[in-house]
Amino acid sequence: MKLSELENNRKGIITKVRGRGAFRKRITEMGFVKGKEVTAIKNAPLNDPVEYHIMGFEISLRKSEAELIEIITEKEAEDIKSQYPNIVGEFSTEKSVITDDILKTSAKEKQKIINVALVGNPNSGKTTLFNFASHSREHVGNYGGVTVDFKTAKLKQNGYTFNITDLPGTYSLAAYSPEELYVRNYIFNNVPDIVINVVDASNLERNLFLTTQLIDMDIKVIVALNMYDELLKKGDKFDYHSLGTMIGIPFIPTVSSKGKGIKELFQKVIDVYEDKEPIVRHIHINYRKDIEKSINIIQEKIKIKQNYFLTDKISSRFLAIKLLEQDKDAHETLSVCKNYSDIKQTSETEIKKLEHHFNESSETIIIDAKYGFISGAIKETYKEGVISTRKRTEIIDTFITHKLFGFPIFILFMWIMFQATFSLGSYPMDWIEQFVTLISGWFKTTLPEGILKDLLIDGIISGVGSVIVFLPNILILFFFISLMEDTGYMARAAFIMDKLMHKIGLHGKSFIPLVMGFGCNVPAIMSTRMLENKNDRLLTMLINPFMSCSARLPVYVLLIGAFFPDYPGTILFSIYLIGIIMAIVVAIVLKKTIFKSKEAPFVMELPPYRIPSLKTTLRNMWYKAEQYLKKIGGIVLIASIIIWALGYYPQDVKNSKKYDSLITQIEKEYAQKLSLIPTLDTLSISSIITEKARKINQIELNKKSEQQERSFIGQIGHFIEPIIKPLGFDWKMGVSLLSGIAAKEIVVSTMAVLYQEDFSAEGNSETLINKLRNQTYTSGKLSARGGSAFGGKAQKVFTPLIAFAFMVFILIYFPCIAVIVTIKKESGSWKWAIFMMLYTTGLAWVISFLVYQVGSFF
Ligand code: GDP
Ligand code: MG
Repeated sequence: MKLSELENNRKGIITKVRGRGAFRKRITEMGFVKGKEVTAIKNAPLNDPVEYHIMGFEISLRKSEAELIEIITEKEAEDIKSQYPNIVGEFSTEKSVITDDILKTSAKEKQKIINVALVGNPNSGKTTLFNFASHSREHVGNYGGVTVDFKTAKLKQNGYTFNITDLPGTYSLAAYSPEELYVRNYIFNNVPDIVINVVDASNLERNLFLTTQLIDMDIKVIVALNMYDELLKKGDKFDYHSLGTMIGIPFIPTVSSKGKGIKELFQKVIDVYEDKEPIVRHIHINYRKDIEKSINIIQEKIKIKQNYFLTDKISSRFLAIKLLEQDKDAHETLSVCKNYSDIKQTSETEIKKLEHHFNESSETIIIDAKYGFISGAIKETYKEGVISTRKRTEIIDTFITHKLFGFPIFILFMWIMFQATFSLGSYPMDWIEQFVTLISGWFKTTLPEGILKDLLIDGIISGVGSVIVFLPNILILFFFISLMEDTGYMARAAFIMDKLMHKIGLHGKSFIPLVMGFGCNVPAIMSTRMLENKNDRLLTMLINPFMSCSARLPVYVLLIGAFFPDYPGTILFSIYLIGIIMAIVVAIVLKKTIFKSKEAPFVMELPPYRIPSLKTTLRNMWYKAEQYLKKIGGIVLIASIIIWALGYYPQDVKNSKKYDSLITQIEKEYAQKLSLIPTLDTLSISSIITEKARKINQIELNKKSEQQERSFIGQIGHFIEPIIKPLGFDWKMGVSLLSGIAAKEIVVSTMAVLYQEDFSAEGNSETLINKLRNQTYTSGKLSARGGSAFGGKAQKVFTPLIAFAFMVFILIYFPCIAVIVTIKKESGSWKWAIFMMLYTTGLAWVISFLVYQVGSFF
């Protein structure tokens, strides 16, 4: 707990002193050191300062100071004892009593917890490092803005436990974008013990800019010199050790995509944490003389005793510099100070003075000074090699981002991706399908008749099995997306799209959340946080679901496999394309009506091309597979059972015909027929037997489908039928769409459960694809009984046109519940979430209607 929470006359042992360098120095000088015992003497809620007894002295601390000291109490020691059973050996024999020994040992354990935050430019490899260190599977990609929230994970090494936090990437700690402010506030409020500054070694100059700001903040920093492999490959020479010594920050080279240097990095974290690293010291970046003077003047105003509560946490120098940069957030932070108006006035005077003198904005002056510092540091320690990845990147870029060829190349890549999703995916898909059929067949022959058998075969295996077969397709799609992200191509795609995005009133930056939407709309919508403009954010969120997510892929693969087997890749591509076109059209409309705003200018970044790491790709795929299987084992399984039960009950329906007597009648009829045929005519006999089996099968089918139509699900289906009839859909498709609201995979499992009937006379199991192909109407005008228009033949439920209209509906309508919830969360109100549900579903209906009605003409 915090020392400030210690009750009177209770003792604790100090485990950690937080806060920045200057504060820690002062506090340690007073005797507040790790491992020392401290007793509260006078500590009441309103007491400030508080009195403590430490090392034989009575010392009073301010509450704000006591808040930055962490201690362990007897009660906490007890908890720790149970957490670390291995230290029990060192405890005294009396287990129930917490002796001083136990307290000391527990305190030692607690000291060994280090809070580490990863800070760095976008795309410097923070998340890769985080993932490797903690065996997590956060999303990485070779473009900025992938991490939008902080993620925390644990790592144990050399007896220490690290709580690692991955923060969003930032170029600076100015308060321009939400990420920058976020990272800055995170550091101030959470006071991590060590900040690991992840630096892209192949792009030192820009990356070190952030480092200079961390130096200003006066916190414990270690630089992970990441992508060190690229620096070596370029043939560059970098004496990082000298640079580290110069600026008082240790540099550790790492290749986080391969896990190299991570152990050393965390060893260094321990050294710095334990104050055993000689390099570490706090330096001041020397701004020009006049600037330093101004900084000092402002600093004096901030550094007064009443403001210690603030400056213990945040360096007054940092605040002074930020004031000179006219940073709004720094003003807000300082506005709680009693002498704020004085501070403000002083800073304004100083800014005026500087601007007059340099004839430039004060902010530029400081930024220039920082870059000057970096150039100087680099010049002394860095020698560029001959081979430049930039050059290689430039050559590739001349083709890929070419004015004319860029777009066709992009389209080509996409087409290849979708084609491969099909052609490569079909083999493993077949294997899984055969396996499922095998199991289902085995149950059919071995299980006794009854509800359980029906549930297992028609409900669970049909439903779950139908979805699981698409796992390979999804993995292949993810393989390609991961590849494009990792190589840096996706950033190019965003660059190519930038122009187009401008036309629809968004900029290329919005393209990245859109592309992420191909994987899953939920993280994609979250990543819109990197957009500064609120209207841009909302707009990007609202059109995001048109980027067809991977959960819809199974529906497409199923229907395309059934009805467009000759050119699957192209059809799949066209579906995705329709989604993109929808997004564009809707964006234009919304921009012209609801979201009228000017776009903010933004530089599109083009990171250098990288050879993708197999590890990252495989990890992405494995993670996806795990998610998919979890979904199948959870929501898809439950939905399958519900849909099955709703279709199975009520059982005691009154049939319109006496099916059973019809069957006995046929049996009698055929027995008579058979008796007339000479026994030697085996050919005729077998043909008659098949005919009989077919007839009986047909009756049983009619019986079953009549039961299904009268079941609960049939009632629901028929209830919504009028709405979807104009689109050419039957009630079962309607029910599938309804169930897809929870998750799109359920559309497939629902169809598998509903379209059960076996049409082959032989009675062997058929694949869902064949069932869909052969599905005919069993009731109503379009059925064999109802329709004279079709010469007494039942009409097929699915035609390629209907299948296509159905896919279009799936593409556009209601995104899943998770997306709606995310939109509510991100936009802050239900208004947009509800708007989303309504407009997507309405639009889906209109477009599908057009597809079906116009298509029917031809
Ligand atoms: P973040 O934005 O800082 O979280 O960066 P990511 O962790 O998403 O990584 C960006 C890209 O750099 C990914 O494509 C990684 O595979 C790649 N990458 C990360 N670390 C290294 C490294 O040490 N060497 C090389 N060559 N590539 C890396
Ligand atoms: Mg990241």
